[in-house]
Amino acid sequence: MTFDDVKSRIEELKAIIRENNEAYYVFDAPKITDFEYDELYRELKRLEEEFPELITEDSPTQKVGDKTAKGFNEIQHRYRLYSLDNSNNYEDLRKWYDRVKKEYENEPDLELVVELKIDGLSCALSYENGILKIGATRGNGIVGENITDNIKVIKSIPQKLTKPINIEVRGEVYMPVSSFERLNEENIENGQKEFANPRNAAAGSLRQLDSKITAKRDLHFFAYTAISEDKNLFKTHKQALDLLSELGFEVNKNHKLVKGINPVIEQCEKWETERFNLDYATDGMVIKINDISKQNELGYTARAPKWATAFKFPPEEVWTKLEGIELSVGKTGAVTPVALLQPVQLAGTIVKRASLHNFDEIERLQINIGNEVLIKKAAEIIPKVIRKRENDDFGIYKAPEYCPACGTKLIKPEGEVVLYCPNTLGCPSQIKGKIEYWASKEAMDIDGIGSSIVDKLWEKGLIKDFADLYKLTIDDFMTLDLIKEKSADNLYSAIQNSKTPTMTKFLTALSIKLIGKETADLIANEFPTLEDIKNAKIENLIQIDGIGDKVAKSIVEFFNDENNKIVLEKLEEYGVKPQGSAFEKISNIFEGKTFVITGTLSKPRNFFEEQIKKLGGKTSSSVSKKTSYVLAGENPGSKFDKASTLGVIILTERDFQVLSEGKINE
Ligand code: NAD
Repeated sequence: MTFDDVKSRIEELKAIIRENNEAYYVFDAPKITDFEYDELYRELKRLEEEFPELITEDSPTQKVGDKTAKGFNEIQHRYRLYSLDNSNNYEDLRKWYDRVKKEYENEPDLELVVELKIDGLSCALSYENGILKIGATRGNGIVGENITDNIKVIKSIPQKLTKPINIEVRGEVYMPVSSFERLNEENIENGQKEFANPRNAAAGSLRQLDSKITAKRDLHFFAYTAISEDKNLFKTHKQALDLLSELGFEVNKNHKLVKGINPVIEQCEKWETERFNLDYATDGMVIKINDISKQNELGYTARAPKWATAFKFPPEEVWTKLEGIELSVGKTGAVTPVALLQPVQLAGTIVKRASLHNFDEIERLQINIGNEVLIKKAAEIIPKVIRKRENDDFGIYKAPEYCPACGTKLIKPEGEVVLYCPNTLGCPSQIKGKIEYWASKEAMDIDGIGSSIVDKLWEKGLIKDFADLYKLTIDDFMTLDLIKEKSADNLYSAIQNSKTPTMTKFLTALSIKLIGKETADLIANEFPTLEDIKNAKIENLIQIDGIGDKVAKSIVEFFNDENNKIVLEKLEEYGVKPQGSAFEKISNIFEGKTFVITGTLSKPRNFFEEQIKKLGGKTSSSVSKKTSYVLAGENPGSKFDKASTLGVIILTERDFQVLSEGKINE
């Protein structure tokens, strides 16, 4: 590259970045992904570092944010707000630490606080004598937008602090992912524009000229910085965070005080995957020097503090080509389109497939094979298609009329968006799907029975439904390709050992439309025996909290269906008998309490489930705000983290014993 080439590339980059800054900061409507933006920004920064004589004062690398939007009063910040420098690899993160550590060569490893980088909109709140006076956006760091009226309608922002002090508090206004999805659904229904991501939804909701609109949106605030003239209030960042909690702010609990850079990297690795369990968007981690006097010594560049940096997670969104659409027929006959993608790296994994949900969704996205599509990995493990590139017209993929597995004409039940194959008794995809699901971990958990064995058994004509699994002999298995005596023996035993499942597992395994593990749990908790469930009427079922008309109807229809009755009779005949909750309640001390069990305990989970029920409580398989306690054994999974995030009480086995002490075996 000649000097002139560099000069013109720098000009070009500045123009593109400026245009995108305006779309993002002023109109809350980005045109490119953050990852694409960061690549352009880093290229500009690299060129400017190589050719410092080409740095101009108006370069985006020398500025924070963008101008303010029309319609708001501008407000001069008392203390300047900055952005954060960032890196997307650990090598650069270590370099940042080494640079800072050099200033303190004779000291041991420095104390750092690692926090989640919340993807929302930063705000500065000014309190006088403990009373909220002004709320402002960052703007360009010197001048922001006065949004005090809108700030006052956010419930997690206290209008009065627990102490009458003067303080400036900064933090991030964000919208939970679940609320963002709901808002977008509503916007689609009302023919309004969708928000690109929770950050834009939060920014768009907060920067409304009418605060009544802001009040209707589910906005929250995490406080992460305190600034005070009183130098004795806090001397470290950690103390500032603790003070903010004390004053009545929500401080994100997932922060950690560490020494040196290695534990910082451990935290970054941990949250790179665990962030998907959170109900708010995070785009990285922020690392700050703990000691405030060191922060002051290190100071700022034109745009960012030198005493802090951000580590950005790999992109959650990426563009790729839609190479095909696969139609799969599920266990309930639902025909689902799956996007087959040109393989692409996304949030640390190679992605080849993405969910398209149903054909209404394809229509909405206006996509077809050949389109460039933006895919996103969010809370769910399977990524989904967000949108196609503008003006990238390949027409719209046409929904099939006939079942791709058995050729039967498809139907779309009234009020539903899903296409179904009605051939429940003859469609091989549906029947094999049901058998595979019956044996799956979530259902009866029969080791070794997966899609390839089911396919083989089906092809040999040895099974026609899941009840037939129980009549199979060791010899039957030995007729299958590549199955030797030992594995035949194991498969046989695994099936025979699954004859006394819990009621939840049994109900889940039946593949009743709309009934997953959660709902099965609710029913199992209410009805002591299978006979009771078979005889339940819609009016009995809808009495259960969490069960609505559609689900109740589906259960009643299932148990009244003649073909299902035959399969249930066969199961009974082969000795498959779910263990109902027909035991005597001995106390009501857990009345109204819901428990979730995770990790390895000293006895099987069934034991604890039974104890909870005996004492009047309920169990559930997933953690929500309604969960009263999580009983956690060793190596607990994501339920433990979710419970911590939601503030649900976590019990050790010992705590559990204490709680139920003396009441269990009386
Ligand atoms: P930034 O988002 O990279 O980092 C600074 C911000 O992080 C702070 O202002 C604060 O709001 C936030 N933050 C969240 N949690 C924090 C915590 N715990 N402690 C401190 N700060 C925390 O910087 P920026 O200047 O706001 O924006 C630049 C970024 O915005 C880019 O890297 C890009 O990802 C995105 N962007 C995208 C486009 C686009 O067109 N897609 C355009 C402009 C900017």
